[in-house]
Amino acid sequence: APLIRLENIYKQYTLAGETFNALDGIDLTVYHGDFMAIIGPSGSGKSTLMNVLGCLDQPTSGKYFLDGKEVEELSEGKLAAIRNTKIGFIFQSFHLLPKLRAVDNVELPLVYRGLSSSERRARAKEALTKVGLGEKMFHIPNQLSGGQQQRVAIARALAGIPPLLLADEPTGALDSKTSRDVMGLLKELNAEGNTIVIITHDPNVAAQAKRVVRIQDGKLTEERTEAS
Ligand code: ADP
Ligand code: ADP
Repeated sequence: APLIRLENIYKQYTLAGETFNALDGIDLTVYHGDFMAIIGPSGSGKSTLMNVLGCLDQPTSGKYFLDGKEVEELSEGKLAAIRNTKIGFIFQSFHLLPKLRAVDNVELPLVYRGLSSSERRARAKEALTKVGLGEKMFHIPNQLSGGQQQRVAIARALAGIPPLLLADEPTGALDSKTSRDVMGLLKELNAEGNTIVIITHDPNVAAQAKRVVRIQDGKLTEERTEAS
C-alpha cells in the first residue's frame, strides 16, 4: 500500500460569510521511498496541505489513508500520536531548544516513545553521526552554523525512525551553498530508503526531488514523476 493517500480533500475557511476552499479537491498519493517536492506560490495552499499531510490539522472533508488504513474523525490525542510516531518534521527555522545541546535536542522527541535513557542517547548519537555531526553533539545551537543547526533538526526528525520526513522550506533560512549541502543530505537519506516530502517555493530545491507536484489555488497537478 502507499504510505499516504489523500482523496478529494477540501479545507474550507469562512471569512465574513464567504466560504473559500484553501484546498479544493486534493488527490495525492505518497509512496514509500518517494522524494517529493510540493511547490506553489504564496497563498496557493502549501501550508494548509502540509498541515493536513502532517496531521497538524483536519481537513473539512475528504479521506486520509495511512498505510492503507483510513484515518478518520481522529481526536487531537490520536492525531498527536500519529505526528509523534509516523512523521519527522523539519522546519525552516530549525525549532531547536537553545539551551539544550545537540544530542539533548535530538533525544527530546524520543521521550514520548517510552525508550530508556540509554536507548535514547544511542539513537541520538547514531542520528547525529548520520548527518555528519558526530563531533559536535555536545554543542548548543548557538555554537553551530545555520546549516549545522538544520542538520541537528534533521537528526531529530530521523531519530524516531518515522516512515515519513516532512520538511517545510528546509533551506529557507540558509545561504545557497548551505542549502545545496542540506539538500544533498536529504537526497542521501532518500537513497537509503527514507520517504521525504518537501514543501517549498524554491525551484532549486524542487529540482532535487524525484517527484514534483504543483499546488495552485488549492488544486494539485503532478508536474514531474520519476519512478522511485
Ligand atoms: P501558502 O502556504 O501556499 O502560502 P496557505 O496554505 O498558507 O498558502 O494559504 C492558502 C490560502 O488559505 C490563502 O488564501 C490564505 O489566506 C488562506 N488561509 C490560510 N489559513 C487560513 C485561516 N486560518 N483562515 C482563513 N484563511 C486562511
Ligand atoms: P517559519 O516559516 O516561520 O519558519 P515553521 O517552519 O517554523 O515556520 O512552521 C511551519 C508550520 O509548522 C506552521 O504552520 C507551524 O504552526 C507548524 N509548527 C511549527 N513548529 C511546530 C512544532 N514544533 N510542532 C508542530 N507544528 C509546528
